[in-house]
Amino acid sequence: MDLGIRGKTALVCAASKGLGKGCAASLAAEGVNLVITARGREALEATAAALRERFGIQVTAVPGDISTEEGRQAALRACASPDILVNNAGGPPPGDFRDWDRETWIKALETNMLAPILMIRAVVDGMMAKSFGRIVNITSGAVKYPIPELGLSNGARTGLTGFIAGLSRKTVRHNVTINNLLPGPFDTDRLRSNFQFNAKASGKSYEELRKARAEANPAGRFGSIEEFGDACAYLCSAQAGYITGQNLLLDGGAYPGTF
Ligand code: NAP
Repeated sequence: MDLGIRGKTALVCAASKGLGKGCAASLAAEGVNLVITARGREALEATAAALRERFGIQVTAVPGDISTEEGRQAALRACASPDILVNNAGGPPPGDFRDWDRETWIKALETNMLAPILMIRAVVDGMMAKSFGRIVNITSGAVKYPIPELGLSNGARTGLTGFIAGLSRKTVRHNVTINNLLPGPFDTDRLRSNFQFNAKASGKSYEELRKARAEANPAGRFGSIEEFGDACAYLCSAQAGYITGQNLLLDGGAYPGTF
């Protein structure tokens, strides 16, 4: 299926590794030119070079922290008028809510709620003016089934989700859709660091926890960044103009509800 987005430009935030990188690669495979960001320059440049080499598209790498105004402005200077925006950033640390003071909460809100909202604010009017725009926010399965030790994530991402529910119904008339992708367990650095935290907390070994968690998933495994990226690319396709305000869970069936 040709997704009808060849030659368009995507700004993919936090894309040197993991799920953001998967989204960048799937868009690149459709002939989309990319601007990608991450804080660490070395891994970012390496990902950009690999994507250029593999897909023959233009890739601009913009180092910066997307949770800061400076990082966002750098990304927007390189790509003021994207056709596609993928919002992503690292997740907040796990822990006990008693240890989280106001500053900790503000950091989580800035990274996982306000940064995507401010990026959308910067680009959405331009998308509506040209009658095409696709915005995908990488959130978390924790929006649907809160994970106790990830309270910062549960809180910040649910705030973003509520905001998107309203805005996405205003933009779709202009062929600008906004949807959220909710990852369950995907085999990335982020998942590995969560296992390290839980291994310490429970006294079980990292490998033991990892194996048990994969087996407990109805799919019997973790997701791959390629599977995640392809779902993102579809939501960014020309064909997906009637899908907006949705929260698509990619979790191998882990969430047990009917809806
Ligand atoms: P990952 O493998 O650790 O990759 C994170 C990527 O984002 C890296 O490229 C990282 O590069 C970049 N990044 C992190 N913070 C950034 C910031 N403030 N500004 C710019 N770039 C930033 O993580 P992942 O597993 O792909 O997770 C992506 C998101 O999905 C996270 O919010 C995570 O909590 C959420 N999630 C993941 C899973 C899972 O199973 N993997 C499940 C649920 C939710 P630098 O460090 O160099 O900046």
